[in-house]
Amino acid sequence: MPLDGSLVDGFGRIHDDLRLSVTESCNFRCVYCMDDSNTDFLSKKEFLSPSQLKCLLKVFKELGVNSVRITGGEPLIRKEIIEIVQAISEIGFADIALTTNGTYLRKYAVDLKNAGLKRINLSIDSLNDEKFKKIRRRGDLQTVLDGFAAALDTGFDEIKVNVVAIRGINDDEILDFIDFSSKYGVTVRFIELMPVGATEIYRDENVMPKADILKAVTSKWNIVENRRDNNPAVTYCGVDAQFKFGIISSMTEPFCDTCNRIRLTADGHLRNCLFSTSEISLGDMLNQGCGNDEIIRAIRSEIFRKKSGHGTNSLGYVIPNKPIYKVGG
Ligand code: SAM
Ligand code: SF4
Repeated sequence: MPLDGSLVDGFGRIHDDLRLSVTESCNFRCVYCMDDSNTDFLSKKEFLSPSQLKCLLKVFKELGVNSVRITGGEPLIRKEIIEIVQAISEIGFADIALTTNGTYLRKYAVDLKNAGLKRINLSIDSLNDEKFKKIRRRGDLQTVLDGFAAALDTGFDEIKVNVVAIRGINDDEILDFIDFSSKYGVTVRFIELMPVGATEIYRDENVMPKADILKAVTSKWNIVENRRDNNPAVTYCGVDAQFKFGIISSMTEPFCDTCNRIRLTADGHLRNCLFSTSEISLGDMLNQGCGNDEIIRAIRSEIFRKKSGHGTNSLGYVIPNKPIYKVGG
């Protein structure tokens, strides 16, 4: 295990991207994420405080992390969200982004930008109100679109739209989302359904694979693939029209060999993968008064034992004991 330098795992992958969950709670109950009746959330008193977060994030910065994505649960329902963005921003990360369901984006867009947030991923899933309700079960499409408009007006460096593609529900909206990309100049990212939710919806037949998403787009448009970087989404542009889309094909073409992500839960547990079944509590270490050296050793050791891949297709695959809304999507 390397004792200094960047955060390297046993396969030589360098980890410089932190997904930071600031709450497990959510005002939505998306079919792919949690059950309709779900109330299994951490209580507020278990969250890391903004100052504890700042202590840990300074350590991650020292270890070479240069981008932080704030997520959850729904990060914009955390009361101290602006204070948290500000605290992260003061540490000086090259990139600070946030993933949201958009309900409170109109309310917070300007404050988020002023606090230092650079980029936003907005989950929309459907441009049809009925289907939106079927997938997200709470809230309404118009409020999310109003949030999107507010984010556009505010002028973030980048806004991306996330769409979990589900066979038989929104698989007929691929071309509508391409039009949306073209109209607003934003990248749309289609995400293959993953077995990481506390729900029954995950079945192979509900996954809309990358190949079928590409088939839907190319039924109307000529496209060209962009050069691939560390980004999990392979991205494409229109040849004869201005649009850009990505596909996150975690299931049919996993990108684990270039993974650079680590995750910190709202109560300070470090996970080396979304699909991991183990974790360590940095929150407990902070509460016990451990020094930075001890915390750094624990972080390095947890990252070093990251598996080579998520293994969802292997016989021994175990669905993570913490669903995506608890780990941070
Ligand atoms: N609440 C915020 C939101 O919905 O954007 C942030 C948290 S959410 C867990 C982060 C991302 O994970 C969203 O884009 C969501 O669509 C995606 N997601 C959740 N469950 C998923 C699943 N089972 N398969 C694929 N993507 C999923
Ligand atoms: Fe909430 Fe996001 Fe999960 Fe939907 S995907 S239930 S908005 S945390």
